[in-house]
Amino acid sequence: MRIERIAAYQVDLPLHEGSYKWSGGKSVEVFDSTIVEVETDNGMSGYGEVCPLGPFYLPAYAEGVRAGIKELAPHLLGSDPRQLDVLNRRMDAALKGHPYVKSGIDMACWDILGQVAALPVCELLGGRCGDDFVLYRAISQESPDQMAAKVAGYRDEGYRRFQLKVGADPQLDIERIRLVSDLLEPSDKLIADANTGWLMHEAARVVRAVDDVDVYIEQPCLTYEECLSIRQRTSHPFVLDEAVNDIDMLLRGHADCAMDVVNIKISKFGGLTKARLARDLCVAMGVAMTIEDSWGGDITTAAIAHLAHSTPGDFLFTATDFNSYVTVSTAEGAPQRAAGRMSASSAPGLGVKPRADIIGPRLVDVH
Ligand code: MG
Repeated sequence: MRIERIAAYQVDLPLHEGSYKWSGGKSVEVFDSTIVEVETDNGMSGYGEVCPLGPFYLPAYAEGVRAGIKELAPHLLGSDPRQLDVLNRRMDAALKGHPYVKSGIDMACWDILGQVAALPVCELLGGRCGDDFVLYRAISQESPDQMAAKVAGYRDEGYRRFQLKVGADPQLDIERIRLVSDLLEPSDKLIADANTGWLMHEAARVVRAVDDVDVYIEQPCLTYEECLSIRQRTSHPFVLDEAVNDIDMLLRGHADCAMDVVNIKISKFGGLTKARLARDLCVAMGVAMTIEDSWGGDITTAAIAHLAHSTPGDFLFTATDFNSYVTVSTAEGAPQRAAGRMSASSAPGLGVKPRADIIGPRLVDVH
């Protein structure tokens, strides 16, 4: 089996809440997502999706996905899409870095492998763990009262894990954490995600001021070293996200005892193949994970669901259902949340079929 064509489509993903805001005044109103199609010489198609969180979150931007695929795709024509490790080595040889560009192609090839094997991707990634898995809800940065009201609403919908977007004025962030914490039951989980937004003195004030609150602290500062410094002066469970963008940083973080939980974003690592390696290392090292991506719609959510559902339940801290945040459905067969939980499709591959009327024409077409 050979890759005969690699194509990319563009979709706009507006948000039900109108916008998504986090530290440093960053916000997105409409996500620009790229759907990737890999077509084989026997007429099969696999699909992937890459959707950066705007151009100012990770070193990734939406047009960059398409430009990168245009650059990379000619090197992959003729390759066997089922041989994922060989394919990833070829991608890394042809284009240095740019993991997010490779992510959608890798996802699409897992989709093909699943269709060929007549197995859902989660079974190929290690096996289905339990009936379903737990989701968190990200709470966009607003006033403490507005954020508390959102948490109450999403709690009524069944979510039990909440990631508050903080990383702004420390006094206001302390208020956000305290107000929301008061709403929650002891079995719920609260994460204060600063998204690199605090300087060390600000982070130090916040963690000390909420010392008595049961809250996880996520990526308080910009660099790994700053985060490690805060980690060493707080007793709160600690999550790293932006600072851990490859296997080297994962191993370094583990060696330094820098995190209790790490966020595995599929496109940050470069696709399901590398995210699976990170996931398996975390299991071996005893580090719990949030499995997610930078953003996305139905296809990204399907890929997250397969990786999350094949992760042992005690290691899966939580996962994301991005397709419930956006107003557009780009594919049939995508997983849907139920009472704050989700499960991966049992159809072969990723189990999704893009809606032709939504994804429009091919913007990149290499064959
Ligand atoms: Mg985060």
